[in-house]
Amino acid sequence: MALKIRVMASHGSPGRGGLSALIYRAEAYEDNDRFRERKWGCSHEHRTIETAVQCGQAWLDEHLDDLTETA
Ligand SMILES: [Zn+2]
Repeated sequence: MALKIRVMASHGSPGRGGLSALIYRAEAYEDNDRFRERKWGCSHEHRTIETAVQCGQAWLDEHLDDLTETA
């Protein structure tokens, strides 16, 4: 079981001036799942791809041991 992190972009709530900025969320999926079903998604609204990737990577580091034990 190999979990991978991906970053999904979506529109956040409109800020000042009514422009909705793009926000990014980290998601984890199983690499060998052909449907790439989402196993986890963070609940933040990251402003940059980089912070979303870091968020996902941090989650992965925390949970990798648990996940591999049950695999
Ligand atoms: Zn996050």
